[in-house]
Amino acid sequence: MSRFVVTDLGEPILVVAPHPDDETLGCGGLIALAMKVGIKVHTLFVTDGSASHPASKKYTPDLMADIRAAEAQEALRRLGAKNQPSSFLKLRDGRMPVPGQNEYADVVDFVSDLVSVSKFKTVIVPWRRDPHTDHRICWQIATDAVRRSGRQTTFLEYQIWLEESGRPEDWPGEAEVDDATLDISEVVDIKLHALAAHRSQMGMVVDDDPSGFVLSSKTIARLVVDTESYWVSRWPVA
Ligand SMILES: [Zn+2]
Repeated sequence: MSRFVVTDLGEPILVVAPHPDDETLGCGGLIALAMKVGIKVHTLFVTDGSASHPASKKYTPDLMADIRAAEAQEALRRLGAKNQPSSFLKLRDGRMPVPGQNEYADVVDFVSDLVSVSKFKTVIVPWRRDPHTDHRICWQIATDAVRRSGRQTTFLEYQIWLEESGRPEDWPGEAEVDDATLDISEVVDIKLHALAAHRSQMGMVVDDDPSGFVLSSKTIARLVVDTESYWVSRWPVA
């Protein structure tokens, strides 16, 4: 699979977003195209996104979590997915459980049950060696959960931070994955509009943390283009 269209994918589809905004940055075009042809997409937001502005006094982590969940719902609405299922695991941003911890096992159980009940045929996850630790752990959770469920699913991996801060060894090895490119030109404006729903990540909400996170125009220009690039891993993955 090099170039694909959304109807090539088995449905329903599960999109795993480490933080609110990854669903749009990574696969907003795919979600919007799926909505146009009636393909079901369940979006799973793993962390609460509460760590984006740690120095703010006004915007506490709990308040940021609420704001970011609302922004995520609005982004899904703009992508046409308002009536699609979504789940918010609300793990603490930047402090995710890791394999070996009880909380990690609980999360894998939850996602595994979701995969079994919803019978996902395609699972879209962050790239396994994305430089952001939360993204890597989300790949691990999804991988462990699907393995536990015993279901055969296609894995598509999207990278968010690899091009900006990845090390050479973070990139795919030879024959590790296949390239898969989706033409999203007909919905790229929708993707940009959906991304704009994440106002707190655009520097438009928090006004007392100058060192807080802001999505750069460079990142947006890199990820909101006429194609979305995925890597397809063959199941079972190592
Ligand atoms: Zn993220």
